[in-house]
Amino acid sequence: MGCTPFSVLVADRVFLLVKKLNLAVKPVSKTLRSREFVKVSSLNVYPAKGNELKVLGLIAKEVDLAVNEHLSGRGEVIRLRVNGEIIDSGVKSFLVEGGFVYEVYCFKCFANAFIRVILEKSLQTGERWISVDVDEVVGSPWFKEE
Ligand SMILES: [Zn+2]
Repeated sequence: MGCTPFSVLVADRVFLLVKKLNLAVKPVSKTLRSREFVKVSSLNVYPAKGNELKVLGLIAKEVDLAVNEHLSGRGEVIRLRVNGEIIDSGVKSFLVEGGFVYEVYCFKCFANAFIRVILEKSLQTGERWISVDVDEVVGSPWFKEE
């Protein structure tokens, strides 16, 4: 027991890091939502031009710390390096220019989370930002005993 949800931990830690190191040129919006066993959180960080990859690296390190803090050695982490695109309602809208997707499983609270830390570029405006999004399910059937 005593696990802080990944959604809360990741959003809080990244929010504080960005504030402390002054990594964003726009205010960072932090969204947390929860319904029964499902929790989500979302942050968008707009770094200064040219700083995007450096800020992405710092944020990914902070997410590593948040994940390790939650799991404290009792869980599984699949950390994927990604590139790609985002297709919104059939329209290719954003490029994913780099980042990480974490798939994490906690053996203590049975939470399963997908954490995306990705550098996005709008194909419309050319603007770049880093999205930190968490989708979390508590009590995943992955842990159900046969
Ligand atoms: Zn846990």
